[in-house]
Amino acid sequence: MPGEPNLTIESDPRSDDLVQPFQIDPFALRGRLVRLGPSVDRILSQHDYPEPVAAILGEAIALAVLLAGALKYDGIFTLQTKSDGPVRLIVADVSTEGAVRGYAQYDRERLDSVSPPAGSSPSVPDLIGSGYIAFTVDQGEHTERYQGIVELIGATLAECAQHYFRQSEQIQAGIKLSVARSGDDGAWRAGGLMLQRVPPEGGYTVIADDVEDGWRRAMVLMSSATPAELVDPELSPHRLLFRLFHDEGVRVYQTHPIEARCRCSSERIGRILRSFPADDIEELHKDKVISVTCEFCNTRYEFAGEDFAPLASA
Ligand SMILES: [Zn+2]
Repeated sequence: MPGEPNLTIESDPRSDDLVQPFQIDPFALRGRLVRLGPSVDRILSQHDYPEPVAAILGEAIALAVLLAGALKYDGIFTLQTKSDGPVRLIVADVSTEGAVRGYAQYDRERLDSVSPPAGSSPSVPDLIGSGYIAFTVDQGEHTERYQGIVELIGATLAECAQHYFRQSEQIQAGIKLSVARSGDDGAWRAGGLMLQRVPPEGGYTVIADDVEDGWRRAMVLMSSATPAELVDPELSPHRLLFRLFHDEGVRVYQTHPIEARCRCSSERIGRILRSFPADDIEELHKDKVISVTCEFCNTRYEFAGEDFAPLASA
């Protein structure tokens, strides 16, 4: 995939709901910038989550989009946390086409007792607690599912993901995430930046010490991006990357669009209900109306109980 030789700030037609891949030569550092505007606002607005829950889910969605962009797959990439804290479950998934969705489960009473120091957002240990974060790639029936799972270690989701890379993939990666409300309407925005050290095929063309220096310098530059910059709608992706890495020889590649889209449908949910054990089907049949709400997008589906005919018993 040829990159553009020069980063042109003027040719930046789309600045929201996208993944912007980039590369820093000659150290073969691969990176991605994720910018989410209307997509993440739509997902978070479909639920009436308390502010800290919406914010952490927004971060998880940005993280899922960042990580999915690092993989070559055809299907669904899912990020999931399962833990003992006030937010006991977070799920965010992304399809190869760029359809993203997510939801969280939480305990309101326990959430109310979380009080971070003024001006800061609650940490992963406070909000999510102890548990695991899992990454799954599902490429459909008849293919092997890939799953990576590690303990949640870190103060932020970005740190937890970095820990995952060190532990499971033995890859050096730097990740930054940001979520905020912006504009008069307080719409949610999310952003993420990821840098990965991927040794090029055939080895480096520069000496090892320079590679180390290049990596360290890029990490310092990356960490100089402020949370506000990552979600600033006025700061285009090219402009942000130029600001951070222009001295390092950054090259940008074609962007991938992201949109909020759930995969639920009446047919799909009906199929799940029909796959229940015979006893449950019998119970469903007795109900006049069966209503099922999709946890991802909050869409309510109603079925007539009589449509679920009890299976003929032997
Ligand atoms: Zn749905």
